[in-house]
Amino acid sequence: MQKNEDPLKKIISHAKEYGFVFPSSEIYDGLSATYDYGQMGVELKNNIKQYWWTAMVKMQENIVGIDAAIFMHPTTWKASGHVDAFNDPLIDNKDSKKRYRADVLIEDYLAKIEAKIDKEVAKGLNRFGDQFDEAEFRRTNPNVVRNATKIEEINKRFKKALEEEDLKDVKALIEELEIADPVSGSKNWTDVRQFNLMFSTELGSTADGASTVYLRPETAQGIFVNFLNVQKTSRLKIPFGVAQIGKAFRNEIIARQFIFRMREFEQMEMQFFVKPGTELKWYEYWKSFRINWHKALELGDENYRFHDHLKLAHYANAAADIEFDFPMGFKELEGIHSRTDFDLKAHEEFSGKKLQYFDPEENKNYVPYVVETSIGLDRMFLAVFSSCLKDEELEDGSSRVVLNLPPALSPIKAAILPLIKKDGLPEKAREIFGTLKYDFSIQYDEKDSIGKRYRRQDAIGTPYSITVDHQSLEDHTVTIRERDSMKQERVAIDSLYAIIEERASFRNVLKKI
Ligand code: ATP
Repeated sequence: MQKNEDPLKKIISHAKEYGFVFPSSEIYDGLSATYDYGQMGVELKNNIKQYWWTAMVKMQENIVGIDAAIFMHPTTWKASGHVDAFNDPLIDNKDSKKRYRADVLIEDYLAKIEAKIDKEVAKGLNRFGDQFDEAEFRRTNPNVVRNATKIEEINKRFKKALEEEDLKDVKALIEELEIADPVSGSKNWTDVRQFNLMFSTELGSTADGASTVYLRPETAQGIFVNFLNVQKTSRLKIPFGVAQIGKAFRNEIIARQFIFRMREFEQMEMQFFVKPGTELKWYEYWKSFRINWHKALELGDENYRFHDHLKLAHYANAAADIEFDFPMGFKELEGIHSRTDFDLKAHEEFSGKKLQYFDPEENKNYVPYVVETSIGLDRMFLAVFSSCLKDEELEDGSSRVVLNLPPALSPIKAAILPLIKKDGLPEKAREIFGTLKYDFSIQYDEKDSIGKRYRRQDAIGTPYSITVDHQSLEDHTVTIRERDSMKQERVAIDSLYAIIEERASFRNVLKKI
């Protein structure tokens, strides 16, 4: 597939047509960057959560889960730095009236120079073949060196301008680089302003003296403020982790690319508390665990890459993203951050409460260091959905649309289909439905021809279609059709539970991590 807008369009329309994702409040023309998950979407989303929770909590001796409130005491966000610094620099184009993130405009500009370098390197490889020494080429080729220096200089100046809150210089940089509005081509820009991404609202009635509260922009702080509650009540010893899945809200300046960047989204985060000095070892451990978690789904190892952060947030001493090859190219799917003791120390300072751990081996108190893994559930949904949606040409010249999800993630594990709507076949099919419904999500479908029903199940990713025919009434067997190979085998009805359990449960995926 080509990396343009088209593949995303196809994904959006398939997601809508088959009940995975709808635009929010669509009858009122929708609300930008907000989406609703439909009858299939909610199942896929729940399965992704279950996969994460099982791997990160249930399978771990020393990790427990919590579910903290979305509203938190407003001082939480002072301490975490979000009130003062959770900003994006925004800029408007006066002609097109479009709004952009100034940092994104500059990053896109840098990406274009980077692409020129890559092109030059590819030319070199073509010319020199096996003899090609890429490192040497990058050091000495004049075009590459000139462009690399340019990137470095722009980066340095941009970083300095942001650090010093010199927004005038950010604008000057955009003008000097002659960056144009990607939509209109206009270079007529407003000044750059800082824009805080937190949504705020009032708690209590105004008469009582309402106070401003925020919708949490990340779930992590709910874990930090509960650090001692969990440690004391669970009696966990360091190193240990606390995990949480929940909604987060960010007033993103530009939210586009479907469910990749939303204003209301869900995060799956785990904070791992460790002894100071051991954090980089644990950081490596979690990087490797998390990439294995992704790869165990077998969506294609080539779809993932690490992006190590060179520019670190003020609280981090190491950070990397796991990037996924989305239809619009490689983008951040998950972050793994070594957050030092920044958050716990800040909460100690602002709350006046000690947030320390007594280490019996060391016989002393300390504020633990934290390694965090943070993945957006909706981005994971998009990664899975977009990489599994295929247009297939079949041997007989026809084609089909198939969503070849890992069976454990499929919304429906098996469809039960009576071949025809009479002769006692629906009754037999419903009897099978009745035995499997307690353990699996199963769909009963008797409408349309069997071929059409198979296609419908292919499009929603059902791995197994079970057809009940006249022979079923005689010998208590059915055919089971496998989605990807489209092969059918005849099996005893009594063996269905074991077959689905073996092939469509998470066990075999989890064992690969
Ligand atoms: P980005 O640079 O893409 O804005 P971020 O670095 O701000 O992301 P984090 O604060 O590290 O993101 O959040 C952790 C994870 O939460 C991200 O890896 C991503 O999967 C998810 N996430 C963040 N913002 C959004 C959003 N607006 N919509 C959907 N998912 C998001």
